[in-house]
Amino acid sequence: MERKVKLQITGMEKKYKNGDGVENINIDVYEGEFVTMLGPSGCGKSTILRTLGGFLDIDKGDILIDGQSVKDLPPEKRPTAMVFQSYNLWPHMTVYENLAFGLEIKKVPKNVIRSKIERGLKLVNMSGYEKKYPGQLSGGQQQRIAIARALAMNPDVMLFDEPTSALDPEMVGEVLELMKELAHSGMTMVVVTHEMGFAREVA
Ligand code: ADP
Ligand code: MG
Repeated sequence: MERKVKLQITGMEKKYKNGDGVENINIDVYEGEFVTMLGPSGCGKSTILRTLGGFLDIDKGDILIDGQSVKDLPPEKRPTAMVFQSYNLWPHMTVYENLAFGLEIKKVPKNVIRSKIERGLKLVNMSGYEKKYPGQLSGGQQQRIAIARALAMNPDVMLFDEPTSALDPEMVGEVLELMKELAHSGMTMVVVTHEMGFAREVA
């Protein structure tokens, strides 16, 4: 079976004002592939991931998804969703509101939002937590909610920036397990980490 390139980074350069950054980045990610970028702190992993998600503009090259350039699109117009090390849940919003927010911006009908959230929470094994606030959850639970929030946007490509680095060791397993399930379900995933063994654990 011929494999389809889902995400293509060609000749990409992103430099900060101080001259730090990344250059000559060329990566092909196939549909359904799980790609881990491993490297020491400061080598440019987050920079690359943020350019993919649309949180940073690039200086040279291009980023293609399904053959279409996305480099000039803002994050919400890209078929990507990002999961951060620090979860980035909105602390003043309930779990339900955290998941609903992006969908409301997209003007998804209320009843569709409700059913998407129900399904999403079930998938990450967090049904019944709709009314909780992030501060009432463990780190592992918060990260699973962040993953559910990303999934609810129906992304073609999911981006993970050190998704287990902020977790207590005993909670790493539950997030890795969820990522493994996603990978096996055919999701295209780009994960950056400085932890050796991460790829091996998820594969
Ligand atoms: P990693 O995620 O691999 O730890 P980063 O992509 O965060 O690396 O950083 C790559 C390089 O760019 C580092 O030298 C870092 O100090 C620098 N850098 C990151 N963000 C900024 C920024 N907003 N302004 C200036 N330099 C930055
Ligand atoms: Mg980083």
